[in-house]
Amino acid sequence: MKAFRFILLLGLSWVGLASGHLIEDADYQAMKKKSSAQTGAPPKTAEPFLKFPEAVLLDWDEKYLYVGSDGLPDHPMMIGITAWQQQVPLPQSYYGENAWPIPLHPIPSANGMSAKTNFFRGAIAVAANGIPIFNPIKNDGRTDTYLAGELDDYGGHCGRADDYHYHVAPWHLAERLGPSLPLAYALDGYPIYGLSEPDGGSVTGLDSFHGHTNGLGEYHYHASKSYPYINGGFHGEVSVQGGGVDPQPNATPVRQATSPLPGAKITGFEMSADKKKYQLEYVQNGKNGSVNYEILNGGKVQFSFKNPDGTTSESNGKTGRKGGGGSRPPPPEGNQRQGGPRMEGDGQPRKPWIENHLTEMDGNRDGKLSQEEMMAEVNKTFTGYDADRNGQISQVEANGPGVRSAMAGFVKRHFAEVDKDANGAISLEELKALAMKMWEKYSWGEGSGSSQRPPPQN
Ligand SMILES: [Zn+2]
Ligand SMILES: [Zn+2]
Repeated sequence: MKAFRFILLLGLSWVGLASGHLIEDADYQAMKKKSSAQTGAPPKTAEPFLKFPEAVLLDWDEKYLYVGSDGLPDHPMMIGITAWQQQVPLPQSYYGENAWPIPLHPIPSANGMSAKTNFFRGAIAVAANGIPIFNPIKNDGRTDTYLAGELDDYGGHCGRADDYHYHVAPWHLAERLGPSLPLAYALDGYPIYGLSEPDGGSVTGLDSFHGHTNGLGEYHYHASKSYPYINGGFHGEVSVQGGGVDPQPNATPVRQATSPLPGAKITGFEMSADKKKYQLEYVQNGKNGSVNYEILNGGKVQFSFKNPDGTTSESNGKTGRKGGGGSRPPPPEGNQRQGGPRMEGDGQPRKPWIENHLTEMDGNRDGKLSQEEMMAEVNKTFTGYDADRNGQISQVEANGPGVRSAMAGFVKRHFAEVDKDANGAISLEELKALAMKMWEKYSWGEGSGSSQRPPPQN
């Protein structure tokens, strides 16, 4: 017990030293306090995470283990990426209320849920070093991030909030964990082991989620070097909201969404010991570019860009600012195609808007748009535009450089119609309400004679 408390304290002091204002927030303080007050032995689920005391802060109650981290691993990040969205790693506050909850007593679900058709938003597992692991298929529902060159040498990259995460198994952790401990835990509470059994034996009889039950009646997953890479879905119960496991932590964007930089390959990345200064280097068409950024006091992030064309620019990443990456290279032509046929002023499409954008939103490619797919699109669009995360899309945010989603152009062009209460900002409820109206109409008319009633709105 004493040894364990010591380990926790070590973890705390490291985080305390290494972090800036971005993570020493109320969530962090609360978790630190609760964690130090734990007196009982940590649950078994904590074992792999305890191997990374410098990276992970742990707390637990009867139901969950809470894994806290700043979202930044101690290995080189970003190097090796050949399909880059111009996002960079920044520390996150996965602490306290925003820590990763892992069920201590997983419950097998009746049918399970496949990650081939679900969970394109957010994480599906957490690695032993506290870094989230997302579905290897990204949120367009089709792209294998690993095969597409989107991942660095460690299987990770950064998301919309400049949040670093893996999309495949964190093999590099195996050395420290040994074969007897899992590499990660899935968010349903079952462990994910490597290529062999915990006792070193070979793996046989995996189900479609890449898991099986051992002789003791315990279920676990196995990671693999090709798809599904990690758990291929959930054997256990999880609750789903907006196309992702819910609840799970939020990452906080500090700037507007950025766009892909075609042909760029990331060649270098450095982070200072205090995690405040960063440099990313890349090559595009034989020319060098770099992004230097620094977290200043108060959490403001200062970016400076050296573009391959020789130009330089600066920008501040902080809430509610228009223009995102300042004078970064303009997004390539292909990404501006949000338009398609236009929606009519009264919300009644000439040809139903959903039909025109079906393929973009049809995550499981079954040729139909489910309510869940519609809601995933709403959430993606909303999160993309709501740069300062205040729960509203302001006019300024809507006129920002754009979000890559089918619905983004619609929101931009029809701001006033979506803003039903005309308060000058779009709430998530307003966007949902309009999307549901369109979806119900679509769903009733879809495949004429379909008796399928739309499920009730939530
Ligand atoms: Zn990702
Ligand atoms: Zn096994």
